[in-house]
Amino acid sequence: MINRDFHIHTTFSDGKCSPEELVLLAIEKGMTHIGFSDHSYTPFDQGYCMTPENTDAYKTEIGRLKKKYSNKIAVYLGIEQDYYSDIPPKGYDYIIGSVHYVKAGGEYLPVDKSAPELREAISAHFGGEPLRFAREYFRTVGELCEKTGADIIGHFDLLTKFSEKDPLFDTSDPEYVSAWRDAADRLLARDVIFEINTGAIARGYRTSPYPSEDILSYLKKNGARFILSGDSHRQTLCFAFKEAELLLR
Ligand SMILES: [Zn+2]
Ligand SMILES: [Zn+2]
Repeated sequence: MINRDFHIHTTFSDGKCSPEELVLLAIEKGMTHIGFSDHSYTPFDQGYCMTPENTDAYKTEIGRLKKKYSNKIAVYLGIEQDYYSDIPPKGYDYIIGSVHYVKAGGEYLPVDKSAPELREAISAHFGGEPLRFAREYFRTVGELCEKTGADIIGHFDLLTKFSEKDPLFDTSDPEYVSAWRDAADRLLARDVIFEINTGAIARGYRTSPYPSEDILSYLKKNGARFILSGDSHRQTLCFAFKEAELLLR
């Protein structure tokens, strides 16, 4: 079983545990590798991300833990770089590139804050047409490598976060399919790694990971490389990895 996790949030951004607490927990769980990936600074929405000063403190702290626990576990310094972050991610072991906003009419519309907010944004800026929103979402996802220097693509179809309880997108619509395929093809050409992200399961929004099974099988058929990501904001390291690994195999 895969027992290493590289998508983890801490108190430096919107997580509930300090990096050191999580390193100790990881050692206790027998993990051999752990990577931190707190949220990059987004000046237009500061509630969940690291500030620029905090980012330096984060780098220092992860560096300290790397050394302190080097004989027990390999600690990595990563970042979850949002598409609309301005600060270039320098000095990290790896970068997870993620789209958390769709920009329209000069506004940054959060993709994953809440179902009502998402519906509201679509009606205010996309004429109430979820498909138009989806097209813009996947257009930016397709640009993640160029824009963020991503080594790993975070939660490819995050826009479906609320879809199990509140189906908003017709994911079988050929135009929806062509929007995600265009993004997938562009990223496949860069040989980037795709996440199988179980974070929304841990938080009770979904029963299956991102991306959906049809996307996953398309990526797999086209030679994608994958990584299991817990996207943990608490003590939920490697959450549901057994099930995610089975799904992938
Ligand atoms: Zn994310
Ligand atoms: Zn995350």
